[in-house]
Amino acid sequence: THVVTEACIGCKYTDCVEVCPVDCFHAGPNFIVIDPDECIDCALCVPECPVEAIYETSEVPEPMRPYIELNARYSKLW
Ligand code: SF4
Repeated sequence: THVVTEACIGCKYTDCVEVCPVDCFHAGPNFIVIDPDECIDCALCVPECPVEAIYETSEVPEPMRPYIELNARYSKLW
């Protein structure tokens, strides 16, 4: 699955949401999150993100690893 990380906080662009073929982005508390059960790993959203906040799970930088769990949890709440 793909994961949205810290740089998304405060970003007002929603270009990523618009290109997702399975509509798996959810609003989240103050950043957009991806539902890991719905993401098909097409990677179309990655180049659309102006702040480079989206990574494939295995490539999430160490300091942002907690976002993997946050995406999973928040995607079920919002
Ligand atoms: Fe949607 Fe594809 Fe991005 Fe997953 S990788 S969130 S399916 S656009």
